[in-house]
This record gives sequence, C-alpha cells and structure tokens, in this order.
Amino acid sequence: MLNIGGLNEGFVLDHIEAGKAMMIYNNLGLDKLDCCVAIIKNARSNKMGKKDIIKIEGGLDLVDLDVLGFIDHNITVNIIKDGKIVEKKRLSLPKKITNVIKCKNPRCITSIEQELKHIFILTDEENQVYRCKYCEEKYTR
Ligand SMILES: [Zn+2]
Repeated sequence: MLNIGGLNEGFVLDHIEAGKAMMIYNNLGLDKLDCCVAIIKNARSNKMGKKDIIKIEGGLDLVDLDVLGFIDHNITVNIIKDGKIVEKKRLSLPKKITNVIKCKNPRCITSIEQELKHIFILTDEENQVYRCKYCEEKYTR
C-alpha cells in the first residue's frame, strides 16, 4: 500500500525508477510550481526493490502526462481526493512529443531554423523508437 501521508488533494507518481526522480522533477518543470511537491528517494518496493516517488498537491493539469509517458511509461499516477487514492492511471507512450527532446542531426532544419518546434513522432511502438518529424533522425536515449 502506497503511503500518501498528509496529501489530501493531488497526485502521486509511483514506481519511478530509483534515481530518476530529480530528472523527472526537472523535465516536468515542477521547480516552477508554487504548490507542495515532495520527492521520496529509494522507497522500498516489492516489485522493483527500490523506487522513487513524487507527491504533488493540486490538479493533474499541473503536469504534462505526455512528457511523463515519454520519460517512463511504467510510472503509475495515483489521483488523491480526500486523502484516498480514487484512481490509478497508467501512462502510455505519446504518439508525438513537442519541444521535449532536440534533434541531434546537424543538417536537420531544426538546427538551422531556431524558431521551429522540435517534434518527434513515435514510429515503432514496440521498440519505443521516436524519429524527428523533419529529417527522420532516430532519437537515441
Ligand atoms: Zn531532425
């Protein structure tokens, strides 16, 4: 049972791979939020051994679930109301991500036209392959 200690209204990102919480914190822009955010590192997990957890007070619209799904779609999102888990959301790999990663191909139009959005498309769901919308350069993690 997930300990949501003290959180009344908000959500908990559970099953984060141990050590990844800070990276997710930065990628989701949680440092820019005014609400209460708690990071728990190296929590014990039956399934994973160790895991990280992030608790956020407030509505789910505070974070971009596409970005989260792209980073790690195995994370579970627990929605908390009145101090209880009312819903568990599974994430999926987003079909398209905008301005999260940058194309590394020096000849890509996005490295020349600075104002262009960096758009990547999921081209192979099974192997989690994303390709640049403009030059089809494969994104390697
Ligand atoms: Zn490109």
